[in-house]
Parts: sequence; C-alpha cells; structure tokens
Amino acid sequence: MQASEFRAQPGTLYIVATPIGNLRDITLRALDILKTVDLVAAEDTRVSGGLLSAYGISAKLFACHEHNERTAAAALVDQLRQGRSVALVSDAGTPGISDPGAVVARAVREAGLTVVPLPGASAAATALSAAGLAEGRWLFHGFLPHKAGERRRVLATLAGLPQSLLFYESPHRILETVADLATVLGGERRLFIARELTKRFEEFHDGALAEAVEWLQGDDNRQRGEFVLIVSGCPAEVDAGLEEAGRVLEILLEDLPASQAARLAARITGAKKNALYDLAQQLKSDRPE
Ligand code: SAM
Repeated sequence: MQASEFRAQPGTLYIVATPIGNLRDITLRALDILKTVDLVAAEDTRVSGGLLSAYGISAKLFACHEHNERTAAAALVDQLRQGRSVALVSDAGTPGISDPGAVVARAVREAGLTVVPLPGASAAATALSAAGLAEGRWLFHGFLPHKAGERRRVLATLAGLPQSLLFYESPHRILETVADLATVLGGERRLFIARELTKRFEEFHDGALAEAVEWLQGDDNRQRGEFVLIVSGCPAEVDAGLEEAGRVLEILLEDLPASQAARLAARITGAKKNALYDLAQQLKSDRPE
C-alpha cells in the first residue's frame, strides 16, 4: 500500500475514470496522474478542461472521440513510443464503458506498451451498489438501439436470460425505452431506476415494470437527466425449467454432494448445470441438519 503521490511514468497510457456528476468523486491517484502526464487524451476537450481547471491542473489536451478514435489511437501509440505519458479520459465515468477508449487501450496493448487503468466512478457500478440485487448476477448492455424496431428485436434476444439486465438511457428516449422493456420483457418484472446519480437531484425508483411509465409521467422532472435501468432477470424460464430438475435434484442430493447432484440432474433433465448448482446450494441450506 502506498499513500504518497504518484507520478506518471514515461511511455505509459493511464486510463483514468472521472466523476459521473459529483466533482469530488475523483481519486487521489487520478489527480496525481492528470497533474503529471505529458498529454491528456479527452473525449471532449472542453468537458475535461473544465474538470482539470476545477482541480487547478493545466494539461495539454488532445481530442480522442468516437469519430477519430482509430487515428487518435495511432497518434497516441506514436507519442507513447517517443516516451511521453498519456492519460485517457472520457466525459464522465470509466473510459471504454459505453464511451470511447476501447480502441486506444487495445492498440496500445497490442503495440507492447504499458496500459495502467485507474479505477473510479462508473454509472453501472454506482447504480448496482444502490439496487441491492439479491442474486448478484447481472448483464451489462449499455445503450439500446435508438430505433424502436431494432430496440425491440435486441430486447427479445435478452428476454429469456436469468440475469438482471443493466441499461444506460438518456432523457430523450427514457419513456419509449421503459415502455418497450415492459412490452417485450413482461410487466411483472421489477425495474430499478437510478436517475442523476451523485448529483443534486439523485433519485431511485423500484417497482413493477408495468407501472414504471406511469411513475415517470407522474412528474416531468422524473424524465430529466441521466438514467441507469436495471430489470430483474427472467423468472419464468428458470422456474419452468427447474421444476422437474428440482425434483430429480432433491433425490440425488440425498446421497451426493451439490456439484455432483447438479451435474447429474443437468444430464438427466437437460436443465442448466449452473442454475441447478445454485438450486442445490439453496436446497441444502434449507434442509434441517
Ligand atoms: N463511461 C460512463 C460510465 O462509466 O458509466 C458511461 C458513459 S455513457 C456515454 C453515458 C450514460 O451513462 C448516460 O446516458 C446514463 O445512462 C449513464 N450515466 C452517466 N452518468 C450518470 C449519472 N450521473 N446518473 C445516471 N446515469 C448516468
């Protein structure tokens, strides 16, 4: 463990997470690195310029956004090869998560140069920490397609998955997206809405998908700002698939350990081994000693 200041090292790319709203949500290491790198590659140089000036940092900024990421990556590899140190930041949160950064990180690693990620804020992790998902399994999808038909088609491919589904959404499409979630995934599922995380009007709502549009329409302010949506996983498939498998599993568990019972029950019934293993653990813990 080290509590002293860090200095950017030559020929190193730092992927730096920045706040998602509250400017205080930046790490000490991020500030150390932003202060000492030769170059800050930013999704929007004005946005990152504002963050840097809030911390009294004057850095040389370089534009690296979704429209120039490939050429920017080549230019950054060049800079790193010459021994310069570079920090990569996006407008908010962790670069590469529904943000530019992936192309640069890959190009730099493939060039055999050093990539150092600096962890920090991300809207997905922040929302998950407040959602309190009991089962702890979730699938990050980020943004859904803007066009309704395409969006519904993508949702249909996700409908049978047992994991909670995590989406990013902007205020422009929040109503139509939530309406499509209810139509395609089923109104009985739960939707956790995290709005304006870490900001002044931070707000959460947890309820049935069928009622979510009504909740959003209940107050115009609820449709403003930035959103993370977390929909509970598909219960029907798991329940139906596990019904017969559950009976087989119970019998096998009388003589076998959970992993072996789950493996055999999966072979006998065709149900998913992982789901059966989870169920086996649950059944075992429910049994009297
Ligand atoms: N790279 C970012 C991250 O690590 O979370 C995500 C960037 S993505 C372009 C922007 C989307 O993230 C927003 O449309 C919203 O869905 C989500 N988001 C970002 N900040 C947020 C906040 N403060 N509250 C809720 N959602 C947020």
